[in-house]
Amino acid sequence: MARVSDTPRFTASLVDRHWLAPGILELRLTRPVEIDFIPGQFMRFAMDGYERDYTMVSTPDAETIDFCVAVVDGGRFSRDILRADIGKRFQLTGPHGHFVFQGPANPAVFVATGTGVAPFVAFCRSGVGVDAGLLLHGVDTPDRLIYREIFQSTLRDYIPCISRPFENRDSVERAYSGRVTGYLKQQLTPGTYDFYLCGRGTMIRDVTELIDDHFSDSRLFIESYD
Ligand SMILES: Cc1cc2nc3c(=O)[nH]c(=O)nc-3n(C[C@H](O)[C@H](O)[C@H](O)COP(=O)(O)OP(=O)(O)OC[C@H]3O[C@@H](n4cnc5c(N)ncnc54)[C@H](O)[C@@H]3O)c2cc1C
Repeated sequence: MARVSDTPRFTASLVDRHWLAPGILELRLTRPVEIDFIPGQFMRFAMDGYERDYTMVSTPDAETIDFCVAVVDGGRFSRDILRADIGKRFQLTGPHGHFVFQGPANPAVFVATGTGVAPFVAFCRSGVGVDAGLLLHGVDTPDRLIYREIFQSTLRDYIPCISRPFENRDSVERAYSGRVTGYLKQQLTPGTYDFYLCGRGTMIRDVTELIDDHFSDSRLFIESYD
């Protein structure tokens, strides 16, 4: 296993920061030419006194390395990134992680909540796993369906799972009213799949239990944000 001191370190400058949705920022940083990664991997931001991990939503050959970041109440990185000036230099290590596409052995079911869609954006932009891929994106309100156009135009199937009641249902194509767990239980055809789960630990725990109960021959790959 690589020691921390072996992990490549980079400096990258903030070139753009904009809101993708309420409470979700997209960041663009200069891409040091030496950085190479596999879609689905993440970088570690070494901040002043703490570290945070963020998954690239850009492709490995893009001019910038891009991230989508949930801005949470009381969050340290959330606070610091909102205060950062364009041009600020960040220390990064990476790429890290093994949450990458594992090949088309079984139909892929990507399951994400919130900014947990980040690795699947990188998959879609790089064209990996998309032909047979289904994505379930769990959000509380439709305005948080980030990267919807990319998913709609790239994946075989894309189902927004919206947990709160919402008006104007026709505005969200193929929306399922409820959580990703509800969709998996009620709508997914029985079978053997490669499940890729990414997001907060509560979703990962609930979906893992459900897969054990209903799709036990399937393979399971996990990236927990907690
Ligand atoms: C491998 C890996 C990859 C990750 N990739 C991403 C990514 O691409 N995008 C991304 O947004 N995050 C990602 N995360 C999570 C990220 O690293 C931070 O934990 C998160 O953004 C909160 O950081 P913070 O410093 O702002 O808040 P913190 O100071 O860490 O937390 C403040 C409070 O907010 C709560 N909290 C943290 N996250 C959320 C949330 N999403 N919703 C509600 N409450 C929350 C915490 O439990 C805590 O109570 C990843 C985590 C890991 C381990």
